[in-house]
Amino acid sequence: MSLTIALNRGRILKECLPMLAEAGIEPLEDIDSSRKLVFEATGGHKLIVMRGSDVPTYVEYGAADVGITGKDTILEYGRDARFYERLDLGIGRCKLMTAMPEGEEMGNGPLTVGTKFVNISRAYFEELNRHVTLIPLAGAIEIAPIMGLADLIVDIVDTGNTLRANGLTARETIADISTRLIVNRAAQKTRFDDVQSLVNKLREVVAG
Ligand code: AMP
Repeated sequence: MSLTIALNRGRILKECLPMLAEAGIEPLEDIDSSRKLVFEATGGHKLIVMRGSDVPTYVEYGAADVGITGKDTILEYGRDARFYERLDLGIGRCKLMTAMPEGEEMGNGPLTVGTKFVNISRAYFEELNRHVTLIPLAGAIEIAPIMGLADLIVDIVDTGNTLRANGLTARETIADISTRLIVNRAAQKTRFDDVQSLVNKLREVVAG
């Protein structure tokens, strides 16, 4: 039996394809040079390539049996998501952090926060009992403070180069991020052997 696997296009796809290949799952044609979104793979599996934020949706509703995407995407999708997170693939490591212009203080007053991660930010500042106005952004996050759009941002930080280049410094870590394998709840039961075989093979690849 075969699985339908939803993959997060971009950096995660690039890093997880070699891992899937090691686990015996390889697309029958080159994903990079194709405009297709669905690819047949070895073992009769199907790979579907999509935006990260669509991966949890496809997996929750069972249009894909399993999915591979970042923990940031999973957290932003929601805490009570109806799928299982089965494995940390150990790739795509970074941190979700608050960042502010160098030298500025958070103070105690109301703050405006520019971010792609509105749900995560809302939960985070609620927990801190801080009153914030959230400004949803799709990109151009790091320039929001310089442009006077927001007091601080919540964003993904890897080396910190992007922040520094825009006069920002990282402050608090909200979450440690890496790429995860998620599994549809029904598939976990009805396709247990296939799911378990994939999880076990990928676990071996991760272990190295
Ligand atoms: P850096 O300048 O190395 O701190 O990288 C920060 C930028 O790269 C952020 O704006 C992120 O959008 C992106 N980025 C870095 N690492 C990741 C990752 N693991 N997953 C997704 N985006 C990332």
